[in-house]
Amino acid sequence: MRNFIYSRRKLLLNLYSNNFSTSAIKTQNVQQATTGATKRICIVGAGPAGFYAAQYLLKQLSDCAVDIVEKLPVPFGLVRFGVAPDHPEVKNVINTFTKTAENPRLRFFGNVTLGTDVTLQELRDRYHAVLLTYGADQDRELQLANEEQPRIISARKFVAWYNGLPGAEQLQPDLSGRDVTVVGQGNVAVDVARMLLSPLDSLKLTDTTDYALEALASSKVERVHLVGRRGPLQAAFTIKELREMLKLPNVDTCWRPEDFTGIADQLDKLQRPRKRLTELMLKSLGEQSNRKGTPSIGKQFLPVFLRAPKAINQNEMEFAITELKNNAAVATEATERLPANLILRSIGYKSSCADAAINFDAQRGHVCNLQGRVLKDNSSKSVEPGLYVAGWLGTGPTGVILTTMNGAFAVAKTICDDIAAKSFDTDALKPGFEPANKSVVTWSGWNRIDQYERAVGKAKGKPREKIVTIQEMLRIAGV
Ligand SMILES: Cc1cc2nc3c(=O)[nH]c(=O)nc-3n(C[C@H](O)[C@H](O)[C@H](O)COP(=O)(O)OP(=O)(O)OC[C@H]3O[C@@H](n4cnc5c(N)ncnc54)[C@H](O)[C@@H]3O)c2cc1C
Repeated sequence: MRNFIYSRRKLLLNLYSNNFSTSAIKTQNVQQATTGATKRICIVGAGPAGFYAAQYLLKQLSDCAVDIVEKLPVPFGLVRFGVAPDHPEVKNVINTFTKTAENPRLRFFGNVTLGTDVTLQELRDRYHAVLLTYGADQDRELQLANEEQPRIISARKFVAWYNGLPGAEQLQPDLSGRDVTVVGQGNVAVDVARMLLSPLDSLKLTDTTDYALEALASSKVERVHLVGRRGPLQAAFTIKELREMLKLPNVDTCWRPEDFTGIADQLDKLQRPRKRLTELMLKSLGEQSNRKGTPSIGKQFLPVFLRAPKAINQNEMEFAITELKNNAAVATEATERLPANLILRSIGYKSSCADAAINFDAQRGHVCNLQGRVLKDNSSKSVEPGLYVAGWLGTGPTGVILTTMNGAFAVAKTICDDIAAKSFDTDALKPGFEPANKSVVTWSGWNRIDQYERAVGKAKGKPREKIVTIQEMLRIAGV
């Protein structure tokens, strides 16, 4: 069987890889040279912010050429490595990004990392403007003792594991225990809970990596506790994600009735989205009371409100019981322990400083900026001419793709306005990026990876089987 898979892969590899790398880069250069573009803009990061900004700039500035520099050999950022595999409709934005990438005035340089392969100064010397959109790839910590143990992992790493981010295949989360406690109640927390509780047969039809499917097949997890510091009215998950949980076959959602004391009385004061979410929680709670006495149907999803993480013990986690004061959670002396064979920390992402020349706020984990213009220093509020930031790197890790799109369009418009106002020089000739001694994946290289993944996935009834190592990506891309 192994030999069969290997020879099949080899066959597909031969089909999709041929000697292209340098010639493809040359073709891209020639393409741009013939488009008459005089303004060169570099975007760092090929996630939604990068692609939406590129789309806007190419449309509004007919004399601009855009290069996207991306750390990984493959594009799309969290759309590929974050969005849950059972949300294929969300990934349709890839079609829009692909159209943008096919514009002859855009070049893609995959496998190039800002801060390692190229410095910010080099990019600034080679482009009229640089837009940073390299996202948020670190996680916030609980700041508790014993946090660095294998059974405590970040939701970010767990998500990366089932989504095939290179390097994440080593994670091997321990799914041999009955209880998983997820700390946090945002949509990412609900995503990981759903992945742990979903029937395997439905996940097999998604692009969940094969190694994750194998691990989930032997998972002993039966109960997922989803713990938040505040109450139901402050829950950070949205109605779509809750509906999906409530519809999961063979999973009981079990609310704690005491968490909902007085909540129904406040419905009329709530804004519409919050009201609908709260009504759904109350409806589900009502259905739970009607089921009382009937045995559980299988696995359990257990939202727990008003609990703040306090300590990590052997196979359990201790929480302080909190009270709400002016919408903030205040810990009381009382505590509760929850069983936790595995703990998933899902309390947010943060960005890192990719290059020492970036004015980066390490405390907040984002690039210091004023409406997308990167600040020289925070005290004077003066900006770096021609340097911009968009997406999660500029705003912090909040919002969905739509929010990121609106923000990226706004920053791209600012760039256009600044060019029109001659806020920075666009007359000097700029050469753009020329990769030296580096395996660069162009858009044609990505197309080869894409076709290969789809072909391997199709044979298994999946939309794609992701390649999970950089080395293999480069091989398939023909670099
Ligand atoms: C787990 C998870 C699930 C989500 N699910 C949904 C969903 O279902 N629906 C929805 O609408 N939104 C969802 N979101 C939100 C959505 O993913 C974000 O709004 C969006 O991806 C932010 O875009 P971005 O371009 O700022 O960052 P990213 O998507 O992170 O893109 C940043 C890019 O920069 C690259 N990069 C990083 N460092 C460097 C470097 N030094 N040099 C060059 N390139 C670099 C990265 O590889 C990446 O490709 C989800 C987010 C997460 C975390």
